[in-house]
Amino acid sequence: MSTQLQVVERCRVFLTEQQIAMGDTINIRHYTDWSNYKRIQPYAVLFPKNTEQVSQILSICNELKQAVVPQGGMTGVAGAGIASADEIVIALDKMHKIEEIDQYASTITVQAGVTLEEVQNAARQAGLFFPVDVGGRGSCQIGGNIATNAGGLSVIRYGMMREHVLGMEVVLADGRVLNLMNKMIKSNAGYDLKQNFIGSEGTLGIVTRAVLKLSAPPSELSTCLCAFPDFLSAVHLLRRLQKNLTTPNAFEVMWNEYYQLSLSWMQNSSNPLTQPYPVYAVFDVEAPAESLENLLAEMFETGEILDAVIAQNQAQAQQLWLIRETVPAEISSTGRPLCFDISLPIGELGEFKEVCQARLDQYFPDLVSLFFGHIGDSNMHIILDLKHLPEDQLESVMTGIDDVVYGVVREFKGCISAEHGIGLLKRDYLHYSVDENTLNMMRQLKQLFDPNKILNPNKIFK
Ligand SMILES: Cc1cc2nc3c(=O)[nH]c(=O)nc-3n(C[C@H](O)[C@H](O)[C@H](O)COP(=O)(O)OP(=O)(O)OC[C@H]3O[C@@H](n4cnc5c(N)ncnc54)[C@H](O)[C@@H]3O)c2cc1C
Repeated sequence: MSTQLQVVERCRVFLTEQQIAMGDTINIRHYTDWSNYKRIQPYAVLFPKNTEQVSQILSICNELKQAVVPQGGMTGVAGAGIASADEIVIALDKMHKIEEIDQYASTITVQAGVTLEEVQNAARQAGLFFPVDVGGRGSCQIGGNIATNAGGLSVIRYGMMREHVLGMEVVLADGRVLNLMNKMIKSNAGYDLKQNFIGSEGTLGIVTRAVLKLSAPPSELSTCLCAFPDFLSAVHLLRRLQKNLTTPNAFEVMWNEYYQLSLSWMQNSSNPLTQPYPVYAVFDVEAPAESLENLLAEMFETGEILDAVIAQNQAQAQQLWLIRETVPAEISSTGRPLCFDISLPIGELGEFKEVCQARLDQYFPDLVSLFFGHIGDSNMHIILDLKHLPEDQLESVMTGIDDVVYGVVREFKGCISAEHGIGLLKRDYLHYSVDENTLNMMRQLKQLFDPNKILNPNKIFK
């Protein structure tokens, strides 16, 4: 009997038929994540209902040295949740209880399979606010958000997932359960072990429960679209907002090619600005419209802002945000996206864009590369649509584009992954951003937590 089958047979003792999927009963959503990098049917998918079952499964897998892959909502974009045909998936879907909202501590305690949107809604109903927000909110799970240290639009104001995790419960590779379910802001009792699991992409342990910090909801936001002569003028506006008003709740920059393409795809929409400009920012800020207008007027005088529009109502605000959101959504649904998620010191992003764009145009003249992103967090995204490439050229062209983009990131001493993680897609380039000693320390950490290398093997590094 194969090792995989032995695991499944031993799990039948404590899992019901509905908690085990094999062969054609496996839903195709377990084959790949949003990267669509590879589509593979795993050997089996197990659906534990509680921490004890996760622990039992892992202790069997560890004993038999069977590789397992934790899966959340499969909205990841780095291939980190994709299992191979001989691996067993542990899907957290059936662990979706919201256990408690503590109004005094301003916390929510959930099982790891609760979706981000469910947490946001529960917080709202309690008069509170959970600020982490990403496009896949309806499907992605808190366990996945923790394992990827998710970012998103509001990082500039509220921070990444790490900043919102007060406590967690995690099952180690050998089945031991670490109870780190702290609710306090202050807890310096020895090493803060939970930090190791945040952003570890399921390679060090399986998160089963979490305590998340909630915030007060923001008051009314002003939404604004501005046009600039160059990238650094956009950065200057950001710093002026922070100095004179407050840190924006979101601050997103788009270059002109991206902006124009977005408008062309938005039905019934005309350009809210009078003409094309080199660079644009759309942002939300918790400040009175009058103060915002005064600040924009000052920068208009100095020529750092060329044009601007402040939304007069919610519908207009949504239209402005649609300009930022349309391109990735459209390419994801109708094309073959190749996305990058890099970070550099903010002042260098404009120059990086020029160098990277020139190299991509030189080596791939038939492809359009579009630059945009969470620039307030020094995080730039690049998206290309490869849908017109013949299938047999796809892999080599993707590798060629990776080489170009990550090569420029390396020259600028930047980071190859700002918020999406390494997974499978960026594994071969990790050493561009992480030195040899650091990489070795990461390997030693993996060895300590998972000596039999059963947890999501070959992700992040081989
Ligand atoms: C439209 C869209 C927009 C997005 N925008 C953003 C964005 O702005 N910012 C951003 O950061 N991301 C973004 N993402 C990526 C994605 O939503 C996040 O990475 C998300 O946190 C992944 O959660 P998930 O539950 O889908 O995880 P999965 O994709 O299922 O898994 C991701 C990784 O986490 C591991 N994992 C999952 N659950 C657990 C667990 N319980 N314990 C241990 N490991 C686990 C998996 O093994 C894998 O390594 C976007 C995705 C989409 C589809």
